[in-house]
Amino acid sequence: MPAAAITFSNIPHPAPTPADAREASLVDPGFGNVFSDHMVMIDYTEGKGWHDATVGPRQPIPMDPATSVLHYAQEIFEGMKAYRQADGGIALFRPEANARRFNASADRMAMPQIPEELFIEAVKHQVEADKDWFPAVEGGSLYLRPFMFASEAFLGVRPAKQYKFIVIASPVGNYFKSGAPAVSIWISDYSRAAPGGTGAAKTGGNYAASLVPTGEAFAKGHDQVLFLDAVERKWVEELGGMNLFFSFEDGSIITPPLKGTILPGITRDSLIQLAREDGLNIREEMYSIDQWRDDAGSGKLVECFACGTAAVVTPVGHVEGPDGGFDIGSGGPGQLTAKLREKLVGIQRGTVADTHGWVTKLD
Ligand SMILES: *Cc1c(COP(=O)(O)O)cnc(C)c1O
Repeated sequence: MPAAAITFSNIPHPAPTPADAREASLVDPGFGNVFSDHMVMIDYTEGKGWHDATVGPRQPIPMDPATSVLHYAQEIFEGMKAYRQADGGIALFRPEANARRFNASADRMAMPQIPEELFIEAVKHQVEADKDWFPAVEGGSLYLRPFMFASEAFLGVRPAKQYKFIVIASPVGNYFKSGAPAVSIWISDYSRAAPGGTGAAKTGGNYAASLVPTGEAFAKGHDQVLFLDAVERKWVEELGGMNLFFSFEDGSIITPPLKGTILPGITRDSLIQLAREDGLNIREEMYSIDQWRDDAGSGKLVECFACGTAAVVTPVGHVEGPDGGFDIGSGGPGQLTAKLREKLVGIQRGTVADTHGWVTKLD
């Protein structure tokens, strides 16, 4: 069914959050604590396609206890942000890339495709409905969470025949609450993704599997967990929800390659392009934990940073594992980290020219 055939109906909100309560919640929203008033919902039924698109009040979704997602976790999501730009307008960053990745995740999880235009239209409706929910804090934005799940009540093991696609929004400040100049990471003994598994799909199950290792990292006083490859337990893959970059004294940069076990980050892809345009020698290459330790010790490695929509670009200052730990660089953001971050954030906020067509403005 072509996306053009779908019109969104508006369900008026019976009791929107009063302005003073909303503004109070926007002062220091943190990450993922505050939710806006609205949600977008679209249903899918096998044989009928996508139908019944609504923009309405954010509210609970009644579910039969046999709803298939509750048992077999057929679920995918996206994470993206709407930015208040320097000129007062609102912009999305590479929403087509989110739509494409959403469909790639849907493929892996045996779920239906959603037309890219419909995905983007849904996100735009969401932002439009909640445009009073942008936090005023420095670095703040409206985090958008499009997701899809199997909504059919059925206990047999097969792909569901009914799904819901929903978009919700959460005004956010900084991801790492410490606001520390550099984060500390813990090398987990657990695996996140195996060859042939679901590591490249943005699906809830990958996160469920990361909660114990992440809890371990927190308990040991670190900010994030690092996963090594599941086969040789040697190659650096990524953090629980962020990709990694390493920059060396000879000016070269590497980031682990996408081989199906790493989530293809849009921030990762954007930074590769920006670095390349700056004439930097950036390579997608496997990097081992032993090499990392050696390079940090010898000073060959000068900077390391993690990146993702939520945390943007965050320097990694310390790495700790069962065999001990090591520091990287000065423990704060290095020059390259700061430069790439500034450029990316500048494009997102409209203070640096968007020469790639990455920014979609909402009117
Ligand atoms: C979403 C995600 C990322 C970052 O992707 P972005 O598109 O840059 O936000 C990295 N790793 C994992 C596991 C993720 O789920």
